Amino acid sequence: MIKAIVVVGVALGIFTCSGDELHWYKGNTHTHTLWSDGDDFPEMVADWYKNHGYDFLVLSDHNILSRGEKWKALRADQANVAIEKAEQRWGRGHVKTRVVGGAKEVRLLPLNEVRYLLEEPGKFIMIEGLEMTTSREGLAVHTNPMNVSELLSVERQSERTVEQELEIHSHLVNGLSHATGKPVFWQVNHPNFKFSITGEQLADVALLDGVEIMNSSSNCFNLGDGSRPSVERIWDIANTIRLKSEGLPPIFGTATDDTHDYHLENPVVNGPGTAWVMVRAKSLTADSITGAMKEGDFYSSTGVVLKRLDFNASDKTFTVEVDAEPGVQYEIEFKGSLSKVSLRHEHVPDVVDEKGIEHPVTANYLDQNIGKTFMSKKGTRATYRLKGNELFVRAVVHSSASPYFKYDEYSDFEKKAWTQPVGWKID
Ligand SMILES: [Zn+2]
Ligand SMILES: [Zn+2]
Repeated sequence: MIKAIVVVGVALGIFTCSGDELHWYKGNTHTHTLWSDGDDFPEMVADWYKNHGYDFLVLSDHNILSRGEKWKALRADQANVAIEKAEQRWGRGHVKTRVVGGAKEVRLLPLNEVRYLLEEPGKFIMIEGLEMTTSREGLAVHTNPMNVSELLSVERQSERTVEQELEIHSHLVNGLSHATGKPVFWQVNHPNFKFSITGEQLADVALLDGVEIMNSSSNCFNLGDGSRPSVERIWDIANTIRLKSEGLPPIFGTATDDTHDYHLENPVVNGPGTAWVMVRAKSLTADSITGAMKEGDFYSSTGVVLKRLDFNASDKTFTVEVDAEPGVQYEIEFKGSLSKVSLRHEHVPDVVDEKGIEHPVTANYLDQNIGKTFMSKKGTRATYRLKGNELFVRAVVHSSASPYFKYDEYSDFEKKAWTQPVGWKID
């Protein structure tokens, strides 16, 4: 076997030069509106995020960019509340309506008009995106390319395998980024929604940038289902395979709202404001934010904010410090895989559901050095010095803050933060 050149992950090396030119920006990369199955107007959605301290927002409706003329008949239960709220916010007559075939339709603002209403340079921007949505019966391949400029068209219903669909999505994203020369951050969404995508499948997609390790919408089974692994475990397995045997860089973990519901009180499942990314970038522009995410210069959060995140590539120290809230206890865990790790595994048979659909399952990897905890420390600040035997290291910050809510035992709504892998090597 030819020994591959060892590439050391230096993506976070820029953390060492805490230059004034870098800033943290808060954003949500997965959001729905009335352009698909969200229940509010895009300008109301963007207004919510802007008013809640977000710096950027990606509207990612299913297989559609919010461009051109779009009229939509609203469900009766949506129409009154959504129109009333929009007109309270933007004034009477803001929502244009028409009647077609006896049905009342509303006009949806395209992204350029939403931008006109809400964007403010240096304060709040919209980044164009969509959720490429392919459903084979009982399975879901949903992926979000972020910072796109034209529709990447996929068939919603397909008979292709998950691998073939991922290949098609990858091809489209790659073609677009070559054509435009702009960075596109491409993530696989909610692998455990309908238990559709495994760690091995994520490991095989060369051009993938990220995967949702936390999606706060319903039925995403972030923690697995008791027999199938959590998305965080799947992520570690995928990255271990990529670095150890595929010659590929790691993929980065995102947290997103995948927002659909905007008319309920308090944060709830499918609502806005419980899962986001914090991106360190030079400026608040679509290219700068997207480029930083492609470099892994961001962390994901469900409520824990970091004051410091530094990987010093020369002395191999990885420091995490929490921007602590009064009365909340924190624990910082450093985990990852070791270089000498074995990929020995037991195949797990597909799970056949009540409709006879086969759901693939990530294999059972036997080596405890995959996703191993290297160090754990209570408190608001911790530094881990890499020993040199790690394939990659990442940090998770746990907190004692009350979870947002409990949806079911398989959804993780603890307030946490997850960093990206650092110090990684392609073995
Ligand atoms: Zn989805
Ligand atoms: Zn979605």
